[in-house]
Amino acid sequence: MLTPSVQGYLTRSSWIRRMFEAGLELKRRFGADAVQDLSLGNPDLPPPAAVGEALHALAQEATQPLAFGYMPNAGYPELRAALAQTVAQEQGVAVEARHMVVTCGAAGAINVVLRAVIEPGDEVLTIAPYFVEYGFYAENFGGRLVPVPAARPHFGLDLTAIAQAITPRTRALILNSPNNPTGTVYSAQELAALANVLQEGRRHTNRPILLIADEPYRFLTYDGTVVPSVMQIYPYSVVVSSFSKSLALAGERVGYIAAHPQLPDAFVDALVLANRILGFVNAPAIGQRLVLKTLGQQVDTAPYVRRRAAMMRILDAAAIAYTPPQGAFYFFPEAPGGDDVAFVQMLYEERILAVPGRGFGLPGYFRLAFCVDEEVIQRAGPGLARAAQRARGR
Ligand code: PLP
Repeated sequence: MLTPSVQGYLTRSSWIRRMFEAGLELKRRFGADAVQDLSLGNPDLPPPAAVGEALHALAQEATQPLAFGYMPNAGYPELRAALAQTVAQEQGVAVEARHMVVTCGAAGAINVVLRAVIEPGDEVLTIAPYFVEYGFYAENFGGRLVPVPAARPHFGLDLTAIAQAITPRTRALILNSPNNPTGTVYSAQELAALANVLQEGRRHTNRPILLIADEPYRFLTYDGTVVPSVMQIYPYSVVVSSFSKSLALAGERVGYIAAHPQLPDAFVDALVLANRILGFVNAPAIGQRLVLKTLGQQVDTAPYVRRRAAMMRILDAAAIAYTPPQGAFYFFPEAPGGDDVAFVQMLYEERILAVPGRGFGLPGYFRLAFCVDEEVIQRAGPGLARAAQRARGR
């Protein structure tokens, strides 16, 4: 009954999933406190207090007819207008309500955009390492994800490699900044150079290559880093984002697509249609109303600053090489000994859960998520150092 592709996905279940299951087994055997779980990007901080207050207010509104009924497929008009203001400010471009589509998270947003722009056999570029779900999203529509390795050691853009990866089938490039898993924020200069490469690429494709800027971590940067605007440098662009991390609302599935104002109206019409026919219909009503009432708020980011510093301390003590993340809540250090799967296995034996780099399309590294209590990070220190020493001695 199952298609071979889905059957394949099930048997080759993702590394994150595998680590999650292995972690459950460890926690069952030794107790949750004995396991340092640095494998998941599921933020542990509570939503800001305003979210709870908004939820109470919503209970009062629930008595009205259609309080939570169907709505326009693009989302509540008031929310589209409010989101447009936010995006216009962030991007420095005159985005209006009519350019906004409210979606089921950034994941829903990327699927909607890809549904509108790719056909079977088309190619979608991204920078490796990358958020592994992108591959599934492209394949949902018969497309193919083409990962282009980042420049090492700091995971910036390798513009020559990107130019070489463009073929007549290239339709889009997904750029995630701040990046999961590396924490990289691409600079304005890199974005300008990327825009040139994409413009040049039109010689092969005969149509513009869409830049999909995936920005759910825009709110979380360090040391004064600012995420530059993609819309100011490239008109064939959309920004997708969500409130999963910024408001800790991941389960409520609210995100959006902002289309560049220079894109034709028919482009946004296509996004709205795709949102409907993919079966999302519209993003959840309660989540949209919550976001409308709390827009501009965000989780307290101070704990992330402390956790990042704690993670640097334990990595330094273990003499593991890394580039400090400029944003998001992940480190992507080099795997001591070079073999990421072997090293993650050694960490597992120390009851530390991490994800091998090959799970993100780049072997030789591993990902540590620091959306956990600072104590968990500190407790992982000695085991991390022991595992690193063992890996180097092999
Ligand atoms: N993009 C990136 C880079 C992510 O890390 C995630 C979630 O972890 C998503 C998109 C999807 O987020 P959501 O659909 O919850 O907004």
